[in-house]
Amino acid sequence: MRPARALIDLDALRHNYLLARERHGGRALAVVKANAYGHGAVRCALELADVADGYAVACLEEALELRAAGIRLPILLLEGVFEAAELADVERENLWMVVHHAEQARMIEQASPARPYTVWLKVNSGMNRAGFRPEEVVAAWNRLQGTGKVGEIALMTHFARADEPDVPGTAEQIATFDMATATLPGPRSVANSAGVLHWRAARRDWARPGILLYGADPLPGEPGGLRPVMTLESRIMAVREIAPGAPLGYGARFQAERPTRVGLVAMGYADGYPRTAPDGTPVSVDGRPTRLIGRVSMDMLTVDLTDLPAAGIGSRVELWGREVGINRVAASAGTISYELLCNVKRVRLEYL
Ligand code: PLP
Repeated sequence: MRPARALIDLDALRHNYLLARERHGGRALAVVKANAYGHGAVRCALELADVADGYAVACLEEALELRAAGIRLPILLLEGVFEAAELADVERENLWMVVHHAEQARMIEQASPARPYTVWLKVNSGMNRAGFRPEEVVAAWNRLQGTGKVGEIALMTHFARADEPDVPGTAEQIATFDMATATLPGPRSVANSAGVLHWRAARRDWARPGILLYGADPLPGEPGGLRPVMTLESRIMAVREIAPGAPLGYGARFQAERPTRVGLVAMGYADGYPRTAPDGTPVSVDGRPTRLIGRVSMDMLTVDLTDLPAAGIGSRVELWGREVGINRVAASAGTISYELLCNVKRVRLEYL
């Protein structure tokens, strides 16, 4: 069997969820959209079912997958509905939905649910991607309330730059949100992972942690207190020596400066390892740190074994996880942990 696999530590997931809720206080929706950021939505949701207050997913299809697996806790659709036909499923499956646009309010107005919808009204507090502008919020709330078709209306917003502690944007967004919603009743939700971990002022009734559940801090560096959930690993399948000056791999990007022992690893960009990773991106082999050399291919990549004489065919290679922090790989490859995790495919997910 091809040795490429992603080990998923469900205890770590549970630990991270509980840590998020403890830090934030109140309740927390576990964000399991995009197949739980690549970790398997159903398995992750089931693991949290006895501790979580609820879940958040992007869209109806993701919610239905969880309901079909027997998940009965609240599930919030972060994008809400795209067309009125989805409201029948929302009602039948008792889903919560974000309303971020007047068109969604119109669909609710025209629906005839047997019981009221639970709605999270989204405020655009400065990201300018989705949500009602601050001056529109009270009117949107009144419109929803006036339909007689909604029960509780929660109030939420989303941060654009909470992973940048030194810019004023997040504090401004919190102030804008508070001002826009000051006269409205209902629970509040502001904090994503960066909010939970780094913005005390973002604590409200509900947190919405995503990436931190999987053990990555949205800020660069090592995550204090979090445990990595995914370990992406494979094995060395061949070893060769190349002479100084010899090229390695596509585009001859790497050229040996010294006699170099190259380990060939069963892992490539078709598995989700980033093709943008440059020479020097950290990996570990049999628990020892070394580096990627040569361009990442579809199914294979190459690592430097020159200073690891004991390593050879069959040696375990960790691409990210406990030994190689995912934020280091992301920084090296010019991306973020979110994208690396969501892109994992083809490899087996093995649950611990
Ligand atoms: N809340 C909303 C509205 C989101 O869109 C997301 C993810 O994009 C999250 C929470 C979770 O964010 P994070 O993974 O940074 O915690």
